[in-house]
Amino acid sequence: MLAKRIPTILPKLNFEEALEVTKIHSIEGSLNESMPLIVERPFRSPHHTISKSSLIGGGKIPKPGEVSLAHNGVLFLDELPEFNKEVLEVLRGPIEDRKVTLSRVLTTITYPCNFMLVASMNPCMCGYYGSDKECKCTKESIRRYINKISGPMLDRIDVQVEVNSVKYEKLNSNKVEETSEEIRKRVKETRQIQQERYKKYKIFSNAELTPKLMEKYCKIDEESKKLLENAFDKLGLSARAYGRILKVARTIADMEKSENIQKNHILEAISYRGLDKKYWV
Ligand SMILES: [Zn+2]
Repeated sequence: MLAKRIPTILPKLNFEEALEVTKIHSIEGSLNESMPLIVERPFRSPHHTISKSSLIGGGKIPKPGEVSLAHNGVLFLDELPEFNKEVLEVLRGPIEDRKVTLSRVLTTITYPCNFMLVASMNPCMCGYYGSDKECKCTKESIRRYINKISGPMLDRIDVQVEVNSVKYEKLNSNKVEETSEEIRKRVKETRQIQQERYKKYKIFSNAELTPKLMEKYCKIDEESKKLLENAFDKLGLSARAYGRILKVARTIADMEKSENIQKNHILEAISYRGLDKKYWV
């Protein structure tokens, strides 16, 4: 069956990205003549019953899985704790390596999988734990639900945001908010800055920075370093989180068109961490 592609509001693929995406989708068999080149950034949203092999790829002659079909795009996992814990754990490697190697007796194939992971979840089964409404769950059931997401998995999620339910008055207010189109323009400009900066390295975004490139492009001053060290002690963050926070801070700086990462960019990046200290206890 041909995969349906819904035009998204995501920034369009550049030519090199479009070629990579088209190749993968061609191997998977979801291209047709009317779609010679995929120009829309992929948005994949697999169901929570997905198997390991459908997620990372598999079969006798290994075909790409959802992580590779989401290459250069978004992999959206709705209701994260509903996924099988073992299935979620196999995501750790691909998130880190941005590629997945599938070995069979006769062949070994490596597919790229440079995707942005977006996930949503409730804090408990009823959805009200930590909100201003009454949660009816037991402590034990909350712990079981939350712990379906392991610490190492959470560690790989750079931006963790808590969203409360929207009050009726707010939905009904006349206050003008930023539109999706305006946000898209801002994201596009930020990506252009990054593409331009990294063109000689053949990477497109801050997320792809290697430790060596980070030394060059994610320099911070002594005051910011102290700030980061303090946050590490307080939040008990891992060494992996250090690099991830710096990359997020680099992106915040780019959004403000700031050449250097400033203290406030570091502070904002740190503020997107630490949800585990509230719920994962
Ligand atoms: Zn609850």
